[in-house]
Amino acid sequence: AASVSEPKALPVLQLVGVRKVFAGFAAVDRIDLDVLEGEFLTIVGPSGSGKTTLLRMLAGMEDPSEGNITLRGQLINGVPSNRRPTCLVFQSLALFPHMTVGENIEYPLKVKKIAPAERKARALELLRMVRLPESYYGKNVMKCSGGEKQRVALARAFAYDPDVLFFDEPLSALDYKLKKVMEKELKDLHRESGKTFIYITHSLEEAMVMSDRIGVMRAGRLVQVGTPEEIYTRPADRFVSEFVGEVNVVEAVREVGGRWVAAEGGQPIRLALPAELADAERVAVVVRPEFMRLVGDGESTDNLLDGTLYNEYALGSRIQYQVRVGDRTMIVELSRSLAWRGGLDRPVRIGWNAADAIVVAA
Ligand code: ATP
Repeated sequence: AASVSEPKALPVLQLVGVRKVFAGFAAVDRIDLDVLEGEFLTIVGPSGSGKTTLLRMLAGMEDPSEGNITLRGQLINGVPSNRRPTCLVFQSLALFPHMTVGENIEYPLKVKKIAPAERKARALELLRMVRLPESYYGKNVMKCSGGEKQRVALARAFAYDPDVLFFDEPLSALDYKLKKVMEKELKDLHRESGKTFIYITHSLEEAMVMSDRIGVMRAGRLVQVGTPEEIYTRPADRFVSEFVGEVNVVEAVREVGGRWVAAEGGQPIRLALPAELADAERVAVVVRPEFMRLVGDGESTDNLLDGTLYNEYALGSRIQYQVRVGDRTMIVELSRSLAWRGGLDRPVRIGWNAADAIVVAA
């Protein structure tokens, strides 16, 4: 789908075979990546997957052990962060506590020896950009709320006028509601500024809302890079599919004769095998809760499993049902208007159509 901020197809940053080894352990392992001019790229992954180490190398705070990083075609391995046209916005924000909001924002301009009147004009412009009132210019930065400090840190980052902005989990300290507001504002700011944003977070939800593309890391490797839509609908493997959200996974094995059956339970499974798994003997069939159905009498789906309905949760506009199948729990989500009226602790059949499942390597 064409997004509003369609990235121009020129890599601003290019990583080739980038690796970082700490005492024999590869925290980041052979990463190849093109970051496109003007895109919002988010790197996600569980704790310890190497996101921060990767970002520190991009920002010039750490040297790669192997591989090359180029910025607009120039090799930047070993170039210190203060000599790169990039800027890092930290989780801790790193604001100067003894300074006013205005002094914080003007700091980069002062370093560049820009005259005071021009500095102030630019700071006021940046305050507007991050949606803070001009009256905050003289305010002590420590008297600002968490969300306001966040905006000051952003304004200061923009004052450096960098080519690329890096973000290291900048919203993790905010409460849920403010975080949701800031996610949308960051996305707007990205669009208005036209800058390249590289953002790291362990929250896929955050990544989904803001990014043009998402890179998923696992154990130092970049396992998939794609649009939020691609990551969601075509996960590269089981790890990515499970990282994306709650899923049902049914392992299937191929019997002699080519028929697929559930590894547990042995019932036949109808599936659409992707070409790259043509020779697989065992696969994982991933069914998202919104594609799993509670199958009533007289209805049918390609695949059916017998179970017991043992719990239901209201999720606002949807209802989640938990169904025990053998000793496993499967999840079905229905829109509230389609609520199941059968009652708890009753036998139910759940099912899905082959076309609605994602088949990945087991
Ligand atoms: P989190 O989400 O918890 O911040 P992360 O994905 O950012 O995790 P990193 O901080 O990059 O992961 O760490 C990746 C791995 O490298 C971890 O196992 C970590 O312990 C290790 N590591 C990171 N920095 C160093 C260091 N300076 N010396 C030794 N090991 C390190």
